[in-house]
Amino acid sequence: MSASLGLYRLQQVDRQVDRARSQLDTIRRTLENDSELQQALGELETAKADHHRDGNALNNAEAEVQAQRIKIEQADSSLYGGKVQNPKELQDLQKDIVSLKKYLITLEERELEAMVAAENAENSLRSAQTKLELIQARLGDEHKKLLADQSTFSIKLDQLAEERDAALATIESDLLQVYENLRQQKRGVAVSEISDNSCASCGATITIALQQNARSQKQLAYCPTCGRILYAN
Ligand SMILES: [Zn+2]
Repeated sequence: MSASLGLYRLQQVDRQVDRARSQLDTIRRTLENDSELQQALGELETAKADHHRDGNALNNAEAEVQAQRIKIEQADSSLYGGKVQNPKELQDLQKDIVSLKKYLITLEERELEAMVAAENAENSLRSAQTKLELIQARLGDEHKKLLADQSTFSIKLDQLAEERDAALATIESDLLQVYENLRQQKRGVAVSEISDNSCASCGATITIALQQNARSQKQLAYCPTCGRILYAN
């Protein structure tokens, strides 16, 4: 067995690991939309609660204004109805009406504030609903498929880890160091196959003598152009 064969096999495993990891990364990023979904659901709950609360507050404010107007009407009719004759009582009634009307203004201001708040709550609720619907439409079935893929790739990675251990068992540690360093420098491809008398990675011509070296059981041979370990089938 040539020195480069073990590394070539290891690289085949490592490249599958790289691909599976990159796919898992993509899935994880996409699934982070899940937290976006959770957030949108939370926002909708809050908006519903606010809407409910502000709606009740508006109803109460309207009822208070209404009750105050009835009180004023009643006081007015007592004042002008003719039943009360006593000047002191009439004067008291007039005072009452002035303060009832004054308080009505306060109540009407509160009613207006409550109306504005209820309207804002209504708008917030509607936009929270729209936001949630958009996210749900976007995720949908894709979301389910991603969860399934995620578990498939995780299982695949476990299997690859075992394959990698098996491949490592045949490799000398100093060769492994060379391989790891080259993999970092050469974007994941440390070992290049010789095909049609050329380096499969960079296309450089590989002499017959170098091809013989690449089959050596003891030493590694390197592509003179790209510097990768050469593997001859
Ligand atoms: Zn090369």
